[in-house]
Amino acid sequence: MTLALSQSQALAVSSISVSHLTARTSGRRHFSRLSISSSSSTAKPSQPLSSPPLSRTKTGVIVVGAGLAGLAAATHLHSRNIPFLLLEASDGVGGRVRTDLVDGFVLDRGFQIFITSYPEAQKLLDYRELDLRKFYSGARIYFDGQFHTVADPLRHFSDALQSLTNPIGSVLDKLLIGSTRLGVLTKSDDQILRADEVPTSELLKRIGFSDSIVGRFFKPFFGGIFFDPELETTSRLFEFIFKCLALGDNTLPAKGIGAIPDQLASKLPPSSILLNSRVASIDLEESSLKLETGETFQSEFGLILAVEEPQAAKLLAGMKRNGNGNGPGNPVPVRPKPARGTVCVYFSADRDKVPVQDPVLFLNGSGQGIVNNMFFATNVAPSYGPADKVLVSASLIGSFEGESDENLAARVVAELSGWFGDSLVGSWKYLRTYRIGFAQPNQSPPTDLMKSHRVDSGLYVAGDYLTSATFDGALVSGRKAVEALLRDRALIQS
Ligand SMILES: Cc1cc2nc3c(=O)[nH]c(=O)nc-3n(C[C@H](O)[C@H](O)[C@H](O)COP(=O)(O)OP(=O)(O)OC[C@H]3O[C@@H](n4cnc5c(N)ncnc54)[C@H](O)[C@@H]3O)c2cc1C
Repeated sequence: MTLALSQSQALAVSSISVSHLTARTSGRRHFSRLSISSSSSTAKPSQPLSSPPLSRTKTGVIVVGAGLAGLAAATHLHSRNIPFLLLEASDGVGGRVRTDLVDGFVLDRGFQIFITSYPEAQKLLDYRELDLRKFYSGARIYFDGQFHTVADPLRHFSDALQSLTNPIGSVLDKLLIGSTRLGVLTKSDDQILRADEVPTSELLKRIGFSDSIVGRFFKPFFGGIFFDPELETTSRLFEFIFKCLALGDNTLPAKGIGAIPDQLASKLPPSSILLNSRVASIDLEESSLKLETGETFQSEFGLILAVEEPQAAKLLAGMKRNGNGNGPGNPVPVRPKPARGTVCVYFSADRDKVPVQDPVLFLNGSGQGIVNNMFFATNVAPSYGPADKVLVSASLIGSFEGESDENLAARVVAELSGWFGDSLVGSWKYLRTYRIGFAQPNQSPPTDLMKSHRVDSGLYVAGDYLTSATFDGALVSGRKAVEALLRDRALIQS
């Protein structure tokens, strides 16, 4: 089934321009286009949104939240010429996927990796423009005072061969990684996301992996991806990520992870994105939203709530409902499981004060200490720092509330001095700490990774908590929310 508006439908909806909203909200900051040169995007409008406004109070669709889910929803609306307004509470787009420039360093807000095989991302993003820089396909694991390599045999055959006998796991473990990989490659993503589930730790046990490889490799590697050192996360998510890792490369965009949402936003009309606009309440009967400032926006076709799970739960709980007595179903759990958090500490180092030049991820397989993983970001993407410096990124799992940034940084330095030697680490300069209390929703079983995106006619939700808690899941959910809205509004042509 293709999703598109007929020519007359497109004209009808595009005549309700968002430009009038620019006037009503003067003083608020709009998203400004970046200077990235634009090139092919799969989601392009078939005609510009330039018709004169008919209404001064309404726009077609209002999307709340300019994270990847909201940006994907906006991209799909734009590609169908449906006018929309994207309201974002913070001062920039990207949500959890943002990057800061600090003293010539590119600091992602937390350690994030973009896997090139994410299927939805492949449809929406221009990879060439992102200038993706690859990590080594494997990891170097700190265990028992030494470093041991785990390598992808299809990409680094001789490294993988040499690593067969290292203490990270038995030879059988390493063969089991190969057979697990083949197993996930034979399943579709849909099969994986709907499969029977157990915690990842249980799945690994059932496959036959030894405690050694689970503790020394799977816990720091997948625990770092899920921010879940006990690997309670659903086997569905594990298999989805395992499959993506088998098919694609781990990368960073040269300009930082925030280049991903920036690319999506740069292809939308700048006046359609309103920053610093926090929605305080929803009135479903009026199909309207009120900002914290008291400003009200009304939508013609529907509202898409693309905010984090706790925010969505709050807004839906306080929502003024339809007068028809049929309260909407609430896809957001009333008592969500505790969220997954992380802390990322950055340092700068002189070029001669780092132990390696290669773009490898270091994992803590020792079972001790607070650092879960670390890497030298400029080894992956030199643009992450000034020419004469190295950017060091160390990640911890959990929120470490009650511990000061200074204390945490000192503990990280002490721990990494044990790994690499005080003569190197002692010279590193502290740059910044990012504490992300809500990095991902908790996706331990029971999960439903195929949740409905429809709350009621005219109200839809999007966000990573509705599907896989990944960049890809967020992009998928933005599309699915738009599809649900279009189905309700019968704007779909088969
Ligand atoms: C440190 C870290 C590392 C990660 N690493 C990876 C990784 O390596 N690979 C991967 O695939 N995924 C990773 N993730 C997960 C991934 O970033 C998320 O799953 C995804 O970005 C979620 O997107 P979203 O649009 O659903 O939510 P969000 O990005 O949270 O967007 C929600 C937006 O809604 C806005 N908002 C909230 N309330 C309101 C309101 N009332 N009014 C207006 N706006 C509002 C917020 O400001 C925000 O911009 C990581 C996440 C973090 C934090």
